[in-house]
Formats: sequence, C-alpha cells, structure tokens
Amino acid sequence: MFIVLLGAPGSGKGTAGKIIAEDLKLAHISTGDLFRENLKNETELGKEAKQYMDKGELVPDEVTIKMLKERLKANDVANGAVLDGFPRTGVQAISLDNMLAEMDAKVDMALNIDVPFDEIVERIANRRSCRGCGEIYNVVFSPSKVEGVCDKCGGELYQREDQKPEVVENRLKVYSESAEELIKHYENAGILYNAKAGDKHKKTSYDVAKEVEAYINK
Ligand code: AMP
Repeated sequence: MFIVLLGAPGSGKGTAGKIIAEDLKLAHISTGDLFRENLKNETELGKEAKQYMDKGELVPDEVTIKMLKERLKANDVANGAVLDGFPRTGVQAISLDNMLAEMDAKVDMALNIDVPFDEIVERIANRRSCRGCGEIYNVVFSPSKVEGVCDKCGGELYQREDQKPEVVENRLKVYSESAEELIKHYENAGILYNAKAGDKHKKTSYDVAKEVEAYINK
C-alpha cells in the first residue's frame, strides 16, 4: 500500500506519517529527510539541494524524482510506503503514478492534513531539531529535559535554517501554489482523505494517524 501525505510544512504530516508507517508496516519516506541526509554527508546532491532548501524553494523536479526513484528500489518498500513530502508538484504526482505502475502498484490514499496557517507559523517557530539524530522538539509543548540538548542522543538542538520565520513564510507560499493541483489530482482519482487538524480542531497528528488507520482497516 502506498499513502501520499499532503499538507503544509508544519502540518504534522511527518509525525502522523511515522505513526501510520510503523503501525501498517510500511516504509516511511521523507524527501526532505533524504535531502537533509545528503546535505549532512556533503554529497553532490546535497550541495545542489542546499541552495533551494535554505530559501524554502523546491528542489527541481528532475533531481527530486531521480532521488525518489532510487529510494523506491530499496527492500523495505516491498510492502509499500508512506510518502512524506512527495509529490510537491503536478509533474511529480504524474511521475509517481508512473513509477508505481512500473512496480505494479498505485497510490492507494492521499491524506491531506489541513491545519490553519497561523497555527503552523507559530508551531514551526517553536521547533528545534537535533543535529545528531533528527529528533524534533517544540520549545513550548514538548521541550527537551535539558534546554538545547536532545533527550535521545545528547546531540545539540538547533533551529533549522528553513524554520526561521521569513523562510517559513516562503515555504507556505510555495506550498499554497501547488497544493490545489495536487489535491485535485487525488480527488479526481477518488482517493483523497481530508483531515482537519490542529489546536482549533482539537486534533493532534496522533489523532489523525489513528483516524486514518481506522478508516483503512474498516
Ligand atoms: P520538508 O522537510 O518536507 O519540508 O522538505 C524540506 C525542503 O526539502 C523543502 O523546502 C524543499 O526545498 C526540499 N524538498 C523536499 N521534498 C521536495 C519535493 N518533493 N520537491 C522539491 N523539493 C523538495
């Protein structure tokens, strides 16, 4: 089974995606994480992606599609995957349909997590990531035990370049520009699942994950 996660950066799709992937025994593939891994290892791909990522722009389709295609070949994808952050453009959505068709598979569900933008801006501003293991904290809602230090690995917590307010604004703008096209793509395929989430709706990423799992198992 392949599940695509739509939703703005900061909508909690990463958290929901990890829970769903673990519970349904699917691979969790985040193109953002793949890029960040390349950045950390200073690969050619990482160097190319950095210039876009730091500004909150999308990495060109060609580069991103090639990276995902490679990732889909790994053994852990045999059972399917939760795709977090891909597709981000219409071209990527069509190419994903084609890549999966070659594997005799398809996108079974597109989960759109809809959180009001004002909540998202605040959430991302409060976010800190671990340089060591990538664990994510919220300085207000889920702080580390010792400020600036990761509970899991003792690594240093920092604010990612693309979590700074001016970049967040641009990421949301970039997201809005392509969101409608992606939502239409999956709505037309009859596989769109809409989940309104966030404080206003009193629904956390965990709640969304459990709701989706109940829907799939129905
Ligand atoms: P994320 O962690 O998913 O918000 O991704 C971080 C950054 O990686 C984005 O702001 C983009 O620069 C890049 N990125 C991740 N996924 C994609 C994608 N599917 N297409 C283009 N760029 C991407």
